[in-house]
Amino acid sequence: MNLDNLKEDLAKRKEKHLYRTRKVLESPQSVEPVIDGKKVLSFCSNDYLGLANHPEVIKSFKEAADNYGVGSGSAHLVSGHSSEHHALEEELAGFMGTERALLYSTGYMANMGVVSALCDRHSEIYEDKLNHASLLDAALLSRAKRIRYPHLDTENLAQRLLSSEAKNKMLISDGVFSMDGDLAPLDTLVNLSEQHDAILMIDDAHGIGVLGEKGKGVIEHFATDIQRVPVLVGTLGKAFATAGAFVAGSEELVETLIQKSRSYIFTTAMPAAVAAATRKSLQILEAESWRREKLQSLVNQFRKGALELGLNIVDSISAIQPIIIGSSEKTLLLSEKLLEQDILISAIRPPTVAEGTARLRVTFSATHTAEQVNQLLSTLDDVNKTCHCEGTK
Ligand SMILES: *Cc1c(COP(=O)(O)O)cnc(C)c1O
Repeated sequence: MNLDNLKEDLAKRKEKHLYRTRKVLESPQSVEPVIDGKKVLSFCSNDYLGLANHPEVIKSFKEAADNYGVGSGSAHLVSGHSSEHHALEEELAGFMGTERALLYSTGYMANMGVVSALCDRHSEIYEDKLNHASLLDAALLSRAKRIRYPHLDTENLAQRLLSSEAKNKMLISDGVFSMDGDLAPLDTLVNLSEQHDAILMIDDAHGIGVLGEKGKGVIEHFATDIQRVPVLVGTLGKAFATAGAFVAGSEELVETLIQKSRSYIFTTAMPAAVAAATRKSLQILEAESWRREKLQSLVNQFRKGALELGLNIVDSISAIQPIIIGSSEKTLLLSEKLLEQDILISAIRPPTVAEGTARLRVTFSATHTAEQVNQLLSTLDDVNKTCHCEGTK
């Protein structure tokens, strides 16, 4: 086997400032992780409510490890489905207001498994162009015909649905878009899906826990009846701050997935302790609405300051507040300069985002303070000035 071309490909990536590297954390996930022996102030985690290192969640995890051990031993359908998994599914269904919920080991797998269980090569799948990679890959795996409409462009979507001849159609969108932070036009998507008899699937990985008074995400934010969103995916690695994902929906949906969803069937169940920890996160997430309020006030503070500084932010009310820079080189340079001043924000570059829209993806957590947001703003201003990065204006 000849892997010489890999070397070349890697070198090219470096040249184009698209090379990706990992930073090694030497501490728990928090707003102040330790990297290279140095404490930094982080604005790039999806731990939106600050639960990743919460003592109660850790305690539930430990107790469950004592009771259930570490590994689940097999897939859910074999002998890996413990009472912790089962209770979490019931509680998630109760939280979202659906008949059932089904756990998956990751959000990526949930999307792959749901779409390929509901679609085949005779189906059509309509997706927002900026949908998460896992949703785009899911459509590919299903072998359905794929139709990607321009971001949020429901008129374009409506036109294309009108000319559809497929019997089985899915309409799929992020609830909160992961790299932009803006929201799907949920009411219009619901109406279009009903008019054209398409199965609506919303992946609310970044909305659940964050949006809505109770934290039910975009559904609650737009006061949408959950019955009108037949397939709702939530992930557990973000606001819930553990790992895994769930699909919420009807009895028939969940039973179908248990029979047919390959990424559910052919994989080991998440450890029971992860489910137990998530049950605790769910309790906290529901009860402590102050976390959402605090998060919103930090976001508002940042937006006000960023606009005053002339930063190119996006129209977003969520915890995701990207600053669009443009070139990958500039974005990388800014990210490095920020780190020199102990602020961690990763440079998001193509192909994760479209060419020419590289960005600093700033995210907030309920455990940030107003002072830390001010520190971020003044450091951004500083770095901008010293870096001659006119693209940030
Ligand atoms: C993070 C994310 C996923 C993947 O979830 P994991 O549990 O991290 O695999 C899926 N969809 C969206 C919109 C996401 O942001």
